[in-house]
Amino acid sequence: MVKSSIHRPTKATVNLKAIEHNVKWLKSQIDDEQKIYATVKADGYGHGAVAVSRAALQAGANGLAVATVDEAIEIRQAGLIQVPILVLGLTDPHGIADILHYNLTITVGDAEFFRLAYQHLEDNDQLSLLSLYKLDSHLAIDTGMSRIGVTTKDAVVTFAEEIKAFPWVNWTGAFTHFSTAGGGPEEYIEYQWQVWQELNEALPESVTERHFANSAMGMWHNEKSPKSTIIRFGIAMYGIDPKDSVMGDEGLKSVEEASIAALKPALELTTEIIHVKEVPAGTSISYGATYQSSEPEWIATLPIGYADGWQRYYRVVPVLIDGKYAEVAGVINMDQMMIRLPKAYPVGTTVTLIGKNGQLENHPSLIAKRVGTIGYEILTSIGPRVPRVYLS
Ligand SMILES: *Cc1c(COP(=O)(O)O)cnc(C)c1O
Repeated sequence: MVKSSIHRPTKATVNLKAIEHNVKWLKSQIDDEQKIYATVKADGYGHGAVAVSRAALQAGANGLAVATVDEAIEIRQAGLIQVPILVLGLTDPHGIADILHYNLTITVGDAEFFRLAYQHLEDNDQLSLLSLYKLDSHLAIDTGMSRIGVTTKDAVVTFAEEIKAFPWVNWTGAFTHFSTAGGGPEEYIEYQWQVWQELNEALPESVTERHFANSAMGMWHNEKSPKSTIIRFGIAMYGIDPKDSVMGDEGLKSVEEASIAALKPALELTTEIIHVKEVPAGTSISYGATYQSSEPEWIATLPIGYADGWQRYYRVVPVLIDGKYAEVAGVINMDQMMIRLPKAYPVGTTVTLIGKNGQLENHPSLIAKRVGTIGYEILTSIGPRVPRVYLS
């Protein structure tokens, strides 16, 4: 594990009150019977999985969702031992002992997982584990994302037959994932919905958790019925719109804009000037000498770079200082970058890379649009070297 660098002023400040606010607001928008699973994969979208999990549960979330078994184990080891944790990705059957021991709910796409897991336990003299624990699992159903899961009704029927050979398995849920609710053709949502309903007919009644909603489906398509029994809220919980719309000046026009207005971004990425100087006109700055000052300019150095997740292609993103923009001067280095100041500021002045500074805001969605990606990637790119500091 990379240790975070606490002896420099670069930090990501996570406002857990914003997470709680977002979870409560999302909860107020859905039915009482629907559960919220806080999606905290990728270290809580870069915010810190354990802290976000605690805040989300505090605010009323019923469970957690992660991508990998190891992410789930981190949360269990932090002391969250009761809450259901669903591992959304497919897992290696060799990890069966840990999966049982940590009481994780796994996702499978076929019954082969159980055969291999049993074999592994037998080979390692661990079959006694099966008298101690039951394995909770959800079946992934692929309705059009073409990522994981069964694609046909026949495959669901086959799975339902085969799983009977594994009495140590609790088959409690089935889920799918929509590929265009957060952007793309709306008709495709209808297509996936039809497939979902058709494949649901093949599920035994005992499979009671049937869920299909992420943030976009949960916020904008929650009229679909039968409802998603669980909503796996991710990006919205962090205060970001799945489509990266940000509030314009024109007021609320749609249900989508109403949700954007209600959500509060939870993370700010800040640093401080560590070096500053006035350079004469014609001074080359940074690797490759691609930038030359056109007049005498105040140039400041910041202790953050692409190894912290402030990618080289963010060169087009101005940072904020004293409520003003400052352009990046020259290429972004691994650990440092230079900016052109609007006027002289001393060493120690705060610089905001993500978040608000005065009247200005470097919103993750605006940064994403500027560099041609999505808010999700801006947040999850912030590397482990950047300490997370929590406000609660
Ligand atoms: C990541 C993920 C989610 C959460 O998606 P958001 O768009 O962040 O709400 C939900 N379900 C699955 C299967 C996922 O992989």
